[in-house]
Amino acid sequence: MTLAHVLGYPRIGAARELKHAVEAYWRGELDRDGLEACGRELRASHWQAQRQAGLDLVTVGDFAFYDQVLNVTTLVGAVPSRFAAGKEVACGEVDLDTQFRMARGRAPSGASAAACEMTKYFDTNYHYLVPELHEGQQFNLASSRLFDEVAEARAAGHPVKVALTGPLTWLWLGKGREAEFDRLSLLEALLPVYAEILARLAKQGVEWVQLDEPALVQDLPAEWRNAFEFAYNALRSAPVKLLLATYFGELGDNLQLAVSLPVDGLHIDTVRAPEQLTSVLDNLPGYKVLSVGAIDGRNVWRADLGALHERLANARMRLGERLWIAPSCSLLHVPVDLDAENKLDEVLKSWFSFARQKLDETVTLARLLDNRGLDEDRARVAAATAALDARRASPWLHRPEVAQRLASIGDAEQSRDNPYPVRARAQHRSLDLPLFPTTTIGSFPQTSEIRAARRAHKSGELGRDAYEAQMRDEIAAAVRRQEALGLDMLVHGEAERNDMVEYFGEQLDGYVFTRNGWVQSYGSRCVKPPVIVGDVIRPAAMTVAWSRYAQSLTERPMKGMLTGPVTMLQWSFVRDDQPREVTCRQIALALRDEVADLEAAGIPAIQIDEPALREGLPLRQGEWQRYLDWAVECFRLTASVARDATQVHTHMCYSEFNDIIAAIAALDADVITIETSRSNMELLDAFQDFAYPNEIGPGVYDIHSPNVPEVAWMVQLMEKASERIPVERLWVNPDCGLKTRGWAEVEPALANMAEAARELRRRY
Ligand code: GLN
Ligand code: ZN
Repeated sequence: MTLAHVLGYPRIGAARELKHAVEAYWRGELDRDGLEACGRELRASHWQAQRQAGLDLVTVGDFAFYDQVLNVTTLVGAVPSRFAAGKEVACGEVDLDTQFRMARGRAPSGASAAACEMTKYFDTNYHYLVPELHEGQQFNLASSRLFDEVAEARAAGHPVKVALTGPLTWLWLGKGREAEFDRLSLLEALLPVYAEILARLAKQGVEWVQLDEPALVQDLPAEWRNAFEFAYNALRSAPVKLLLATYFGELGDNLQLAVSLPVDGLHIDTVRAPEQLTSVLDNLPGYKVLSVGAIDGRNVWRADLGALHERLANARMRLGERLWIAPSCSLLHVPVDLDAENKLDEVLKSWFSFARQKLDETVTLARLLDNRGLDEDRARVAAATAALDARRASPWLHRPEVAQRLASIGDAEQSRDNPYPVRARAQHRSLDLPLFPTTTIGSFPQTSEIRAARRAHKSGELGRDAYEAQMRDEIAAAVRRQEALGLDMLVHGEAERNDMVEYFGEQLDGYVFTRNGWVQSYGSRCVKPPVIVGDVIRPAAMTVAWSRYAQSLTERPMKGMLTGPVTMLQWSFVRDDQPREVTCRQIALALRDEVADLEAAGIPAIQIDEPALREGLPLRQGEWQRYLDWAVECFRLTASVARDATQVHTHMCYSEFNDIIAAIAALDADVITIETSRSNMELLDAFQDFAYPNEIGPGVYDIHSPNVPEVAWMVQLMEKASERIPVERLWVNPDCGLKTRGWAEVEPALANMAEAARELRRRY
């Protein structure tokens, strides 16, 4: 029988119950028992959903009050000493508040301390807590939570498979606390704890344990590959069966390694990498189970069950009972339940599948492959085929004018009229800015009044005219404040924007928004990415009226503000019926028209934000260049319609530019503003070494902190910057947008920033 399972299920709950409970606990409105009860209910209902759908195993270990990687970190006792009252946790139980303090610096009990670092899990938008490691670190089994959850599931009568981050991927995701060191040196100390965990699970009657090792789809140094052999040889005597889970891409040069490790089963992703199925089948030892990740765990599209049935028939024949069927990766990365979308157009809805629906798809596919399909399964296949045929034929998806326009794009559309030095002269003539010009990144505080007005407008309480009048007042106030502060290039403040992607998506054809399509981003935070379903068209100008109004209030230059095409793509669910870059080019063309319209409305500078450019990098370095080529092309497609005298800005809020500096330069933005304050301007080295030719605004203060930065501090940072970049090409600005701050901090901070710029002008 073909076994059906999932690598993990979303834990947030259909109505984001987890978020609400955890936040209530943090606020002191829910006690520990209440929080634990909510966790138990969620787990019970998720297992129930898996069983009801007909899965053969339920997955335990995917639940977390904060993060599943953090769970493993506490399970193996890797608690940094600052959270453990000055001493390493030697034994005993790491309690929940310690986890919360590691994640957010504070919890209802215990002393606050600096939180652990958080970063994106592989190429997803899910953030995990980075394990903090140090040389000579010791590990010990320090939490019984996992075993309690197994007991819960068994008490409920479920057949259990446990899922855990594997030892190599856990180390791979970790980082040296003070200094980088060879993390592999910790493997020997770590493995006995994993062995102990496996032994305890076996005692509880667990047959299968899934160890997630997605590190295997990345480029691994030889020592790491060898370490996989060492580790899994050490674990082979464990009294449970091990399923080695890989996902998010193809095994590539790690394929031989992955198939030959001494484990009982291997999971591969055949959505991202369908072509690897044949080579894995050819190389898999005869005793191993192969779990085929056939249902897309990273996107919201309904599976083509008929086509999958056909495609996997051969694997079923070759593997017999050793075939398992699953989604490609944990369903953590998709929304919970499509049934909650009661406002979505029925046709559109029939194209989608969320986590709950993907359980059914998995089960149906497994049963069909066994020729034990029920009427229900045949009906599901027929419905999927009909919906997907309709989707392919939908006039709503394909707008011939978009393809025609894309086809007509030539090189001329991808370059400004003249190179930067010529443009800079035109811009400096018309903008007439001082040395060290000051500006901000775009957004100003989203005050409670602004958010209340938007809510009232959305619910229909506040009419459109009244809402827009209020937003205009906010813009006018922001302009007055910037003038009073003496800033040089102004922004309108983005009061009218809920979110930098949603705001544009809502105005573009081809985008669809769900009501409840929440996906966990980190901890209690969820995001609701829009879905790009069809060709992207801009029916009307999106930002021009606001920017024009803002410019009408001041003599100083106003900067228009757009979200760039790569970020619009990266932070959405993207259609799966054409390459990502084609969708990105469509968005780029829509934004290009906005750039032209802003310019025609007299806006002298336009910022095109690309905070997601770097995170789009593929997991394999060999694919980076191809991605960067089309990403850069899309940005240029958007920007290059601007005439010489219109100053194009871009903004990126991160600090690792070494790998992508050539691409950043190729964007050919006149000005780039970046995050630098926390790295003490050292990241400008990458720009200096590359001889980056255009203007740069290295952020002079960290907007994530409420502290008001001192003048001398910012002057000193800019002095450092000017050792690396000629002063004629330097701007003075914060690290990022200010929407999460309050005016009480923003005004003094910007006043100091403007004073710092004046001081610099006196010096140069
Ligand atoms: N213009 C946006 C803002 O200021 C940029 C945000 C971002 O880069 N994440 O909020
Ligand atoms: Zn930013």
